[in-house]
Amino acid sequence: MNLDPATLYLVLTVVGLLMAFWVCFMAWGQPLGHALWAWALALLAYTASHVVFGLQAVLPEMVFLLGGSTAYAVALVLMLQAVRRFQGIEHAGRWYLAPLLLIPLLYVSLAEYSTIRVVSSSLVYVWQIGLIMAALLDPSQPQHGRGRYILVGAFGAMLLMLLARAVSAAFGLIDTHNLSASSRNLGPVFLVSLCAVLSITLGFVYMTMERAERRNFELAMKDMLTGLANRRAINDQLAVTVARAQRQGQYLSVLMLDIDHFKRVNDNYGHQAGDVVLRSVAQALQSRLRAQDQIGRFGGEEFLAILPDTSLDGALVLAEALRAAVEASPTQWGAHRIATTISIGVRGGAITGGDTADSLVAAADAALYRAKQGGRNRVEVGLATTPVSALGSASPSVVAGAI
Ligand code: GH3
Ligand code: MG
Ligand code: MG
Repeated sequence: MNLDPATLYLVLTVVGLLMAFWVCFMAWGQPLGHALWAWALALLAYTASHVVFGLQAVLPEMVFLLGGSTAYAVALVLMLQAVRRFQGIEHAGRWYLAPLLLIPLLYVSLAEYSTIRVVSSSLVYVWQIGLIMAALLDPSQPQHGRGRYILVGAFGAMLLMLLARAVSAAFGLIDTHNLSASSRNLGPVFLVSLCAVLSITLGFVYMTMERAERRNFELAMKDMLTGLANRRAINDQLAVTVARAQRQGQYLSVLMLDIDHFKRVNDNYGHQAGDVVLRSVAQALQSRLRAQDQIGRFGGEEFLAILPDTSLDGALVLAEALRAAVEASPTQWGAHRIATTISIGVRGGAITGGDTADSLVAAADAALYRAKQGGRNRVEVGLATTPVSALGSASPSVVAGAI
């Protein structure tokens, strides 16, 4: 394959500019600190390096070598910064700017020693790419999403190519005086560079889109104060669970939980304290539920728990455990310990074809009402289709209602 270096660099330049334009287009409207802007800048530096390499026929050797190599190092620095910004980390590390000095220094001091220059600069780039890959695989960062694997794969290919360049130069397999003249190597280098710039940009944009989508989903389905499912999400979950229980003839229990005299907490300690109590009650409830159970914030200080495959007896045991857990964990607010209790309405047991999500919630709600009427800090049972065993009398705070 006979490849003309100027044409190849022109293609890389056009593709780089186009990518930078698209990324700017996507970043438009975002603050300048947004990771996409850093990525757009990185692409411009990457493109600049190819413009300079492409002009090697007209530029003095030192200018195109120094300019092109430094621009490439700048591109990698900006890519690392973009990844760290994406992760919400302002500082990209202690030594990440060092290549911006190291590369020009190598090119100036080793002007006469092309082999050492090519080997050492390749190793500096390998180190830079290694830092980017380590940041992408940082275990302290959220692990979901597939976009970063595209990035890791593409950076991995770039890293291997640069390692191959260092090894080839060290063993005299390429002409280090004029890398572009080794047209045998130019094809693969061009292909890897082109695929890499396309893939890393696609991966980065995909990664930001995945996260935006995840955040939108969380906003739509999560209660921002407690971190639990919100009313819509828990209702959806209940509808699905009711249908499954009917299909499979399984038990299904539902708990409606409400904080007692919560208004007093707000009145006595302020709304902020109320919020902290809400969060701590939500946490106490969630930490005591089993893996298959679901809980969501149903209203202001009301929660709905879904207990699949759970008989009334089982639901009563769990409800009593939840009641006792909240009672036993007061919330610390400054110098105050705010004692909190909850009342729970239970609708438990077998499910019939006529049951719906709404009818289960209504039954649990009616039981909750009775728990409030009965003095609060207690568990009451709603309509049940299975008998309550001795469990109902196991605790003085568990009261069997309309059975
Ligand atoms: P009961 O024992 O009968 O349930 O009495 P209660 O005071 O808990 O019930 P009530 O319905 O009278 O008051 C609920 C209070 O919950 C009123 C409302 O201001 C408060 N509330 C609802 N949502 C929030 C919230 O997100 N944060 C805070 N701090 N308070 C909230
Ligand atoms: Mg209440
Ligand atoms: Mg309430």
